[in-house]
Amino acid sequence: MKEDSLVVHEIYASVQGESSFAGLRCAFVRLTGCNLRCAWCDTEQAFHGGQRLARRDVLARAIALDTPLVELTGGEPLLQPAAIPLLRELCDAGRTVLLETSGEADVSRVDPRVHKIMDLKAPGSREHHRNRWSNLAHLGPGDEIKFVLADRADYEWMRATIHHRGLDRLGPGLLASTVWGALDPKDLVAWVIEDRLGVRVQVQLHKIIWGSKAQGV
Ligand code: SF4
Repeated sequence: MKEDSLVVHEIYASVQGESSFAGLRCAFVRLTGCNLRCAWCDTEQAFHGGQRLARRDVLARAIALDTPLVELTGGEPLLQPAAIPLLRELCDAGRTVLLETSGEADVSRVDPRVHKIMDLKAPGSREHHRNRWSNLAHLGPGDEIKFVLADRADYEWMRATIHHRGLDRLGPGLLASTVWGALDPKDLVAWVIEDRLGVRVQVQLHKIIWGSKAQGV
């Protein structure tokens, strides 16, 4: 049964590096595989390999890390059918559950208790044509949208998208971050101030703490 097992890249405890939950203890379940190839992807190691584990074992290992938050990430976790029941079971176990998803995968079947942190890919990713705009109808007040920006053109695309798609409704759930080493966060802050834009500027905490190449932290 496809829903009984998952191909897992790693399961570990750390602190959440992004989103409005940044800095909090979190168990990460990183699944193998992604159907996108963002130009600036920093988790290419999760494209292949991994270990097939029973869903009940993945659940048990995540719970055993004893963190208030559990994040399902990848790669793209929703490519694996067992992700949907696993998310539900993590919620049933009393965890605050986060899902990092690319914006291409359909989020309509995700348990409403899950906090979806969904990318909208800007042109600099070279995957912006893959954004599944119908997903926006499935985002609620507990969900967040993440824009990863490589340059000024990406910033202007984000600003226009927020305006034209009425995304202001997500308020502090609009996350704007920069591609590491490509766009200086100081420039992003200056643009956001100048435009009085209602986004949460964020940096990748784990890269600041452990460096840009670190994995499993
Ligand atoms: S969706 Fe995420 S994991 Fe997949 S290529 Fe893009 S950045 Fe990498």
